[in-house]
Amino acid sequence: MSHKIADKPWFHYPAFSWQTKRAVVIGGGIAGCQSAWHLLQTGWHVTLIERHKKLATEASGNLAGAILPKMTALESLGEDFYVQAFRYTLKQLEQLAASHQHLHYDLCGVLQLAHNAREEKRWQALQKRGFEDDFLQCLNTAQTQQQSGIHAPYKSVFFPQGGWINPASFCKALIDHPNCCVLLESEALNLKKVKQQWQVLDNQHHLIAQAEVIIMSSGKDIKQLTQYNDLPIMPVLGQTTQANASATSQKLKTVIGHEGYLTPAINGQHIFGATFERDKNQAIIDPIADKTNQQQLYKYLAEFSDSLGKIESSHAAIRMTTPDRFPYAGALIDRTFYNNNYADIHQGKYWKSYPSAHYQKGLFILAGLGSRGLTTAGYCAALLADIINGKQPNDKITQALHAGRFMVKRLKQNSH
Ligand SMILES: Cc1cc2nc3c(=O)[nH]c(=O)nc-3n(C[C@H](O)[C@H](O)[C@H](O)COP(=O)(O)OP(=O)(O)OC[C@H]3O[C@@H](n4cnc5c(N)ncnc54)[C@H](O)[C@@H]3O)c2cc1C
Repeated sequence: MSHKIADKPWFHYPAFSWQTKRAVVIGGGIAGCQSAWHLLQTGWHVTLIERHKKLATEASGNLAGAILPKMTALESLGEDFYVQAFRYTLKQLEQLAASHQHLHYDLCGVLQLAHNAREEKRWQALQKRGFEDDFLQCLNTAQTQQQSGIHAPYKSVFFPQGGWINPASFCKALIDHPNCCVLLESEALNLKKVKQQWQVLDNQHHLIAQAEVIIMSSGKDIKQLTQYNDLPIMPVLGQTTQANASATSQKLKTVIGHEGYLTPAINGQHIFGATFERDKNQAIIDPIADKTNQQQLYKYLAEFSDSLGKIESSHAAIRMTTPDRFPYAGALIDRTFYNNNYADIHQGKYWKSYPSAHYQKGLFILAGLGSRGLTTAGYCAALLADIINGKQPNDKITQALHAGRFMVKRLKQNSH
């Protein structure tokens, strides 16, 4: 079938169908575990491959991360994505919590402080937009103090349903299914297509697993398997710090967001940070990063910061981000097909017809979740499962997450 430029055929998905519902997921962080869960819910058998001894040890290895949406002053596609993802995750957590008592989280609310001129402007704009109180409230200084339980002299945007989660417990709950086989201490380093199947091989070229469908969700090492796919993605090193709670700090009732975030006491400890260091792809704990986190906390919440007990490093890891900050969730494109069929789209021939996109059948990706992966991975994985299950989603968010979007951008600019 052919389409006009306005239909954006380069973002169309075919109605994928498969001989068997068996998939291999590479990577046991939140992206891989969410991908597995969504396929398991729709009748698939999943083999999940993780190179470490445990799941959730790299970016998803933080002790506690915040769950909240990212709001923009005016409505935007980005905001729509984060709000939908946030709502989706809340529903999923409710469902999981009913059968998984070890799921460690608390939807105690999140206060995003209006701590600088830009946040103050956002606060003003959000106040005018009139949200439902159970989703977002714009609080004045007295209300912020009351809601937080500590001295926090700021206006704030309050998300009563937000909170924190321990990502390892999230991952564990997601893969707890009789049709999920988890292979730990296995490193997937090569893919080979044999007839309809993709074989996943280790560094000795030994077969680890095979299936028609592969989901690549290997975090910072996503390029190992997708190096020829033109997926711009950048590492950002982050470290969180933990501190023993004090009588004063125990009064904190909500998660607080400033430049970074701060949790209430969890088993007697607060988690705060995180640092952002671009282009560093080695995750090494650094005492200087703890100083940075401490200074930042002191800058915004001095009394709270001064009250803390022993401070130590919590976790350091690489989160991956993309140039437009949207993750990649979709099928891997057939680059040759794009080059051959869409080479002239920069000329804007609106009357010309173009064929629908072609993909490397069976290869899918969920990566580039940046610093909000705990909130967004579930929604992205649901979309990915829809694509794999042949539902052909084609809305603006699906297009924004498409793994071929930067290639299309270059073709449009004639800069490929
Ligand atoms: C310090 C810090 C604080 C954060 N705070 C928050 C927060 O408050 N809220 C929030 O929403 N998000 C937060 N994030 C971001 C969030 O944690 C990430 O977006 C998310 O964890 C990314 O998940 P992932 O599954 O893509 O990557 P990872 O968790 O890194 O998972 C990838 C997995 O793939 C495995 N792997 C890689 N290559 C292979 C291979 N070849 N074979 C087998 N296995 C392989 C790795 O071992 C790893 O376990 C934070 C991140 C950091 C680093």
